[in-house]
Amino acid sequence: MATNKSFEGEEWPVIIIGAGPAGLFLALKIAKKGVRVLVLEKEKYIVPSPRANIYMPIVLNEFEKVGIFEPFTKVGFQSPEGPTWRTPYTKGNKVLAKMNYSLIPKGSALKYKFAGMHLGQHQLAALFLEHAQKLPNFNNKWNHCFTSVEQDSDGATVHVSTPEGAKAFRAKYVIACDGASSAVRQSLSIPFDGTTWTNFRFMATNVKYDFTVNGLGIANTVVDDEDWAIIVRLDRDPNFWRVAYGIKDGMDLSTEECLKTIPEKFERLFPGERPLKYEVVNANPYVAHQRCAGKFREGRVILCSDAAHCNSPIGGLGLTTGLLDCAALGNCLIRILVRNEADPDALLDRYAKVRRGAWLGYTNPQSTENTLRMLSNDPEVAARRNKFFDKLNTDPGFHIQLAEAMNEVLIDSFETDGT
Ligand SMILES: Cc1cc2nc3c(=O)[nH]c(=O)nc-3n(C[C@H](O)[C@H](O)[C@H](O)COP(=O)(O)OP(=O)(O)OC[C@H]3O[C@@H](n4cnc5c(N)ncnc54)[C@H](O)[C@@H]3O)c2cc1C
Repeated sequence: MATNKSFEGEEWPVIIIGAGPAGLFLALKIAKKGVRVLVLEKEKYIVPSPRANIYMPIVLNEFEKVGIFEPFTKVGFQSPEGPTWRTPYTKGNKVLAKMNYSLIPKGSALKYKFAGMHLGQHQLAALFLEHAQKLPNFNNKWNHCFTSVEQDSDGATVHVSTPEGAKAFRAKYVIACDGASSAVRQSLSIPFDGTTWTNFRFMATNVKYDFTVNGLGIANTVVDDEDWAIIVRLDRDPNFWRVAYGIKDGMDLSTEECLKTIPEKFERLFPGERPLKYEVVNANPYVAHQRCAGKFREGRVILCSDAAHCNSPIGGLGLTTGLLDCAALGNCLIRILVRNEADPDALLDRYAKVRRGAWLGYTNPQSTENTLRMLSNDPEVAARRNKFFDKLNTDPGFHIQLAEAMNEVLIDSFETDGT
């Protein structure tokens, strides 16, 4: 029990650390159902770095439940096509296989009349924020950097550094949505075991160029051990694209050196007339990992999204899994704080176990295989890749199977009444 009031303002039912897409989606979900929530973010705005931009039907279904699907359709791009796997421009730009969404009956695997929605994750986060700010239960503070947390039987005290000095806030539950380098997770000494992809550096660029005029699909995976890439349309602007590629053995390169690889790489990847005319809007190098927290819960502190797990971006499963964590955790918090459900500890333990299982059982192996399929020369991987492409090219049932497999990311949404 806190003996004296050594924290700012009132006690919050929930404090979320991190105003990324996960933190803001979770805040919107629970604030809508009557939970007072405070989001503390270390930056002074939503971080705009080029990262996630494709959202699958299973996630859109959760957006629908929170009333954010319709607003999202007004800003996002509804892609009519599934992914295409192809060779690089330098090797003929040949289509190897394509996922055909018209083969998938509209139902559980594909509810919508499009394959996926495209929008930069910072714009999606801004949409969550815009809608959350209309709710009286939602509060947020920028420039509030988490430093530590203490727990007792009644709640948790969160310590932050701010431009005005150190502050403390009190909550019943603290949710770590502070990304893969989570300061919350580290402050609790929770291990983040796994592996790092040390054979490449991942470059993400946002580029103005018209790839469809130049013969590419909407979402392309370029398969090659050297010139692998992801080339996908970013949003409603037909000339705005994400080009992500690997720099083989580029782990030790500085950011500057990574950026210098762009012109030569684009020359090898881009179809179209030479000299190429494009504009790089932003670019960032990343290191890719397959890592998972040893546990997703330590008392009143619960890990969610990238703070709990991170994986290679190939196949778009990172934020997908993170947003589904938020959907599940949001339902648990609503059950505990609005419906006063008995035994909150058992419910939160189950969240921690189920969501860790979803990452270990589906997201980790699937994102690993997606990455290897794109770049590995290992004979066993090559055999699996050929079989995968053969099945896509010859077996209509395989398209349905792949679309349905996505449902494994949400084993249990912890709903009790469909909300
Ligand atoms: C190039 C690239 C492409 C990707 N593409 C896809 C894709 O297409 N689909 C997909 O599903 N996933 C994709 N991902 C993964 C996706 O970007 C992440 O899963 C997503 O960012 C996770 O969101 P988050 O809100 O959990 O964490 P973050 O987006 O990392 O947000 C964390 C927030 O916490 C804040 N924070 C950090 N430390 C503190 C602190 N101490 N105190 C307060 N605040 C703090 C940060 O400033 C940030 O605002 C991609 C990743 C990369 C790198």
